[in-house]
Amino acid sequence: MIQLDHIAKVYPRADGLVHALVGVNLEVPRGRFVAIRGPSGCGKSTLLSIVGALGSPTSGRAVVAGEDLAALSPGGKARFRARTIGFVFQMFHLLPYLTVLENVVAAVSPEHRADGVRRAVELLSRFGLARRRGHRPAELSAGERQRTAIARAMVNQPAVLLADEPTGNLDPDNASEVMAILADYHRQGGTVLLVTHDEAATAVAQQVILMRDGAIEDAART
Ligand code: ADP
Repeated sequence: MIQLDHIAKVYPRADGLVHALVGVNLEVPRGRFVAIRGPSGCGKSTLLSIVGALGSPTSGRAVVAGEDLAALSPGGKARFRARTIGFVFQMFHLLPYLTVLENVVAAVSPEHRADGVRRAVELLSRFGLARRRGHRPAELSAGERQRTAIARAMVNQPAVLLADEPTGNLDPDNASEVMAILADYHRQGGTVLLVTHDEAATAVAQQVILMRDGAIEDAART
């Protein structure tokens, strides 16, 4: 499902080049739940951004769900993201002027236009947000915001979910609700890459990858 060959990423910065990834090889089969751990700055978010075609590698090859990402035009990358990838971030990144339902519906891809609103309503109900549909993000708790963001990530039934510290701003109860949602998505066949420092979150994964200094240090099964 995800194949990375010799991926390197260099960011130019005023004070010099940052080698964020230095030759990452990774193969994740369809339906695998992988947790990625490692110290801050080791390249975890950069790795997710490349898998999700938000960023391009400086060198190397990334193939995700059969798409060679380097071959896609900017429009092709946008369609790939909408069709194939769900993103969940630590800071939720909801649009503040839209309601909960509007935030989820705004992410519906053209292919899902016919049933997008129905799916959005159904996901929000499943995540305990039926009565919050008309609220704006500022009126929600952190847990409710993250569940809204997950509904948005799942509305197009993506094959791959990329979650970057999704429990980082949540208390333990809300964190375990989020992990239960991710586990459920995985049980239904979804592929998950989860960046986390959280022990409880790591325990849900089938495989834990440790990164250090832009490289994969160890890929161990739990
Ligand atoms: P992690 O997610 O493990 O904390 P990141 O992938 O965010 O690591 O960052 C890896 C390295 O790349 C860090 O040194 C970070 O400062 C640098 N970096 C990340 N994004 C950028 C960017 N857009 N421009 C310049 N440097 C960046």
